[in-house]
Amino acid sequence: MKTAIIIGAGASGAAAALRLRALCPACKIILLEKNERILKKLLTTGNGRCNITNTAVSPAQYPAFARPVMSTFDFESVRDFLRSISLPIKEDTAGRCYPLSESANNAVNLFLEALRAADIEIRTGAAVSAIRKQNGKFLITANERYEADAVIFAPGSAASVNGYNGWQLLQSMGITPPPPSPALCPIPSKEPILKSLKGVRVKGKITLEDKSESGEIQLNENNISGICAFNLSKYAYDGCIISLDFCNGVMDENTLLQTLRERTQCVNENAALLDFLLLRKLGLAVLKRAGIKPSGNPKQLEDTQLKSIIKQITRFTLKADKPTDFSRAQTVCGGAGSKYVSSETLESKDYKGLFFCGEILDADAPCGGFNLHWAWASGLCAAQSASRYLGNGE
Ligand SMILES: Cc1cc2nc3c(=O)[nH]c(=O)nc-3n(C[C@H](O)[C@H](O)[C@H](O)COP(=O)(O)OP(=O)(O)OC[C@H]3O[C@@H](n4cnc5c(N)ncnc54)[C@H](O)[C@@H]3O)c2cc1C
Repeated sequence: MKTAIIIGAGASGAAAALRLRALCPACKIILLEKNERILKKLLTTGNGRCNITNTAVSPAQYPAFARPVMSTFDFESVRDFLRSISLPIKEDTAGRCYPLSESANNAVNLFLEALRAADIEIRTGAAVSAIRKQNGKFLITANERYEADAVIFAPGSAASVNGYNGWQLLQSMGITPPPPSPALCPIPSKEPILKSLKGVRVKGKITLEDKSESGEIQLNENNISGICAFNLSKYAYDGCIISLDFCNGVMDENTLLQTLRERTQCVNENAALLDFLLLRKLGLAVLKRAGIKPSGNPKQLEDTQLKSIIKQITRFTLKADKPTDFSRAQTVCGGAGSKYVSSETLESKDYKGLFFCGEILDADAPCGGFNLHWAWASGLCAAQSASRYLGNGE
């Protein structure tokens, strides 16, 4: 009987184990997990609701390496896989999909049930510290020593994880892509004005060079946060300029100018001028940047000054830095790519019988269920390729 070992019982590893069992009924399948429980990260996804995939998923949302897998394992194939383990999904108006129960905890329980029913040996507290290939077999060191005919490597990434060693394991096998960086995380900024804006949440648009995202922007003492900032975080570099538009098409600039002219006639001090559009804290920051005293008399403001205010409402710039904190990240940018891994089969180019899935690969995507979609899709693909390698498992 052949043995397949899956390293990492997260989203991609669990999907790989279940699909491998379906395709390779005679094979012994062992799932090694360093934590005391499986699918720990899945519990935290979608604020506990588990944004599991997205109806709008398409290869174009992923780096080139991930596109062949994404064209095969599309929304329907992932939806059907989830249904096969009694995990039907529902979508919201933006195409984000959640389990019917809207509970990540229930989703984890359903996976656990399915893994047990599929006779997959789950070993928790089994942190893999070494992998090598000798005489056609993989030798794996964890809580004990294991021998396998095929390995699916699914250790995830360092995003939000303490003591991550997946990257070192990769390097110990001579697979040495450039280290990934944090992604889907706050964008750090040392701009002093952010201190006065701590806690402000505003609907608007963020632009970083030629890329823009709209949605809720959260301003914190040391960073800019919110989903739109998360989606741009991987493009940020030290000293980059981020431009915030707090109006974002709610009014065109002529209407804004006209409204401001009217406001100058009906408020007593400049501080109240922007109350129709912005929180007072943010309005004061805009006035400060425009060089307007909050205590001044609005009736004395000239059009050139009103235009400076409009510039600050629509192009409020902040100098920002490259994110470096993995503990705040939901995923990483970068990972093993086509130099080391076949983008069609997810098999290692150096080691026959070694397959990869999940975030260890170069496949990050925006917020909205796209990263979990990749975990399921790549897990299914790696299992399919491993089953071809193992035959029927006897
Ligand atoms: C707070 C948060 C919220 C998120 N929300 C969403 C969301 O709503 N929608 C979405 O699409 N994505 C979301 N993501 C991203 C998503 O969770 C990941 O993309 C996905 O879990 C990656 O799956 P994976 O299998 O590659 O890694 P993981 O799910 O991280 O699984 C890897 C597993 O391998 C284990 N492991 C690692 N090293 C070893 C070792 N040496 N030996 C044994 N086991 C090991 C780990 O303990 C872990 O259980 C979120 C991420 C975070 C951090």
